[in-house]
Amino acid sequence: LPMSARMDGGGNVKVVVRVRAFLQRELDRRTRCLIEMDPVTQLTTLRSPESDDGDGGAKLMARRVIEDRSFTFDNSFWSHDVADDHYAHQEDVYNCLGEEFLDHNFEGYHTCIFAYGQTGSGKSYTMMGTPEQPGLIPRTCEDLFERIEAAHKEDSNVAYNVRVSYFEVYNEHVRDLLMPAVPSAPPHYLKIRESPTEGPYVKDLTEVPVRNIGEIMRYMKLGDSSRTVASTKMNDTSSRSHAVFTIMLRQMHHDMETDETTERSSRIRLVDLAGSERAKSTEATGARLREGSNINKSLTTLGRVIAALADPKQLRAGKRKDVVPYRDSILTWLLKDSLGGNSKTAMIACIAPSDYDETLSTLRYADQAK
Ligand code: ADP
Repeated sequence: LPMSARMDGGGNVKVVVRVRAFLQRELDRRTRCLIEMDPVTQLTTLRSPESDDGDGGAKLMARRVIEDRSFTFDNSFWSHDVADDHYAHQEDVYNCLGEEFLDHNFEGYHTCIFAYGQTGSGKSYTMMGTPEQPGLIPRTCEDLFERIEAAHKEDSNVAYNVRVSYFEVYNEHVRDLLMPAVPSAPPHYLKIRESPTEGPYVKDLTEVPVRNIGEIMRYMKLGDSSRTVASTKMNDTSSRSHAVFTIMLRQMHHDMETDETTERSSRIRLVDLAGSERAKSTEATGARLREGSNINKSLTTLGRVIAALADPKQLRAGKRKDVVPYRDSILTWLLKDSLGGNSKTAMIACIAPSDYDETLSTLRYADQAK
């Protein structure tokens, strides 16, 4: 999209890309980095793995066309080489995205951040991080409570209430991650309802009040440990579900003169999507095939919803609300309140540094979403 188009109506949607660092085993194998990012233009280029590979490359080239591809996103986070000047630390990602979104929450609006990408591309590193390198979620929580504390000191007539919920969408079913599954009992799925004022919501979803970052992190861990995992052909424990962590912020302000209380509510949604490679069900059969096509449905619909929100032409045709296909998947339907309107949405496309096919598919997905 040309810059002018982005400013006009597309300002609430951001699409960024982050390349992860090489893992030790990749370094040991001297894997080549196929990604280049220009810190000035934000141009991300995916290099063909064959460009200087000699004979083996030529053979591959004969089978299919592999070429260099370039894309431009709102930001490109380079995490390939720590020694590099434009290396994006966890802190940089927060400063660039998280902070602006939290400002928006304190103004009373909803926000939603998605991490998209193949398994192993850095989604949970970006969202959750590690104890030494905390990601967007712990940084958002920390900043949230710091701001609340500062606001209390400044004005004793404000009160805050923070609650969290954590659910996963697996095979178009919703499961409460804060309600640990009973071993050997069949999974308990929650029903989805629609309220005339609040829109779609999950019935009976656990919402717990939290007073500090320690409490939030405890619930986050509890939820993570109950996420649906299954061993796969690739023999990893990656998740096949979309995990939606929600922080609900209520701000109450009491005006002494008029004796009136005003209230603002906002939701912070932080979503770790299922591995995008799961959407292809090439070798799957039965339950896995169904799972793959459901993941595909959610991810495709999400891409279409974000694209519709980012496209000013569709927004201008605002009378036709149905151009945004929220209803086509459970995930987008449940997040409807946090997508569109005055909400801010960000999609972080996570990519590995040396996987041509999966990276191209992720970059294309992100490109059509912007
Ligand atoms: P995913 O959630 O997409 O499956 P992970 O977040 O688990 O992927 O990342 C895979 C591995 O790569 C982890 O060991 C993680 O610590 C590491 N990693 C991911 N992103 C980065 C990064 N930007 N810098 C350094 N290490 C990273």
